[in-house]
Amino acid sequence: MEHVTTRPSRIGGVSLVPRLRVSFEFFPPKTEEMERTLWDSVERLAPLSPSFVSVTYGAGGSTRERTHATVKRILNETTLTPAAHLTCVAATREEVDEVVRNYCSAGVRHIVALRGDPVEGVGVPYAPHPGGYRNAADLVGGIKRIADMEVSVSAYPEKHPDSPSVEADIDMLKAKVDAGATRAITQFFFDNDHYFRYLDRVRARGIEVPIVPGILPVQNFKQAKSFAERTGASVPLWLAERFGGLDDDLATRKLIAAAVASEQVLDLVDRGVTDFHFYTMNRADLVYAICHLLGMRPEARAAA
Ligand code: FAD
Repeated sequence: MEHVTTRPSRIGGVSLVPRLRVSFEFFPPKTEEMERTLWDSVERLAPLSPSFVSVTYGAGGSTRERTHATVKRILNETTLTPAAHLTCVAATREEVDEVVRNYCSAGVRHIVALRGDPVEGVGVPYAPHPGGYRNAADLVGGIKRIADMEVSVSAYPEKHPDSPSVEADIDMLKAKVDAGATRAITQFFFDNDHYFRYLDRVRARGIEVPIVPGILPVQNFKQAKSFAERTGASVPLWLAERFGGLDDDLATRKLIAAAVASEQVLDLVDRGVTDFHFYTMNRADLVYAICHLLGMRPEARAAA
């Protein structure tokens, strides 16, 4: 179900009513308390009718069972459409194929296919498992051979840290799309110009799939900065300045966070973006508020 927003865009002074679609990303919970937080968030965000909700796969395949359990619970207990993240790390092709088949027989029809990071951590050169998929493009091909599932992949507007250039990244994106991926979700970015420059280069290569911006609402600036350092995303000075001096002031930080995120998404809408993927960090409030600003309203479609 798609939303028709109530927010007119201001392109060229002409009022347009864009059709916006959102998706939400969650991670599998480790503790009972985190489990409650996750399901409260799922319940709160579900009435916004996201196109899909995705569940991450822990580094090194560490959350295989928890990812599977979370995806299955979404499938069984909500009306949402789940997408399961899957990586190539530390597993043979047969093991990965088995995970895909299990998802398939459980009724999951969408996989976010990733290479993943080395088990030793980010910064260590990646070496594929000797009997495993070599990279994300290889994995996309493997999934497509098993079942005709929807496959989304990653994209990096500011270049993946392993990659020598944006062009090399775009070569990899092209290989993933040629292997059957039909959507790319970007790493988060804070400066929208990075996204639009990247989009121009992707389109110039003849890649036509949607490049959905991944939005990280900054709930905790220190944490976001550390994510950015690991993923190669830049943190503009203006962003650091906006959160400066607020380490011990949660209430103001929340207000600033809402202002920063809404400024980013509204600018993207004004520049023609219609699809958004939110990195929720399993928290609903900020994402819910941004979606509200985008004109989205709850429907009588509950989580359970
Ligand atoms: P790819 O698209 O395969 O490669 C990214 C770039 O690195 C390409 O330019 C490629 O050319 C280059 N590259 C790849 N391999 C090499 C190599 N050996 N040498 C030199 N260059 C190379 N991680 C998880 O563990 N679990 C998740 O659930 C998860 N979800 C994600 C969701 C999104 C939307 C995004 C953007 C990232 C996610 N990640 C996740 C992180 C991702 O696994 C890492 O960024 C990982 O380092 C790369 O995986 P990829 O599929 O993006 O890589």
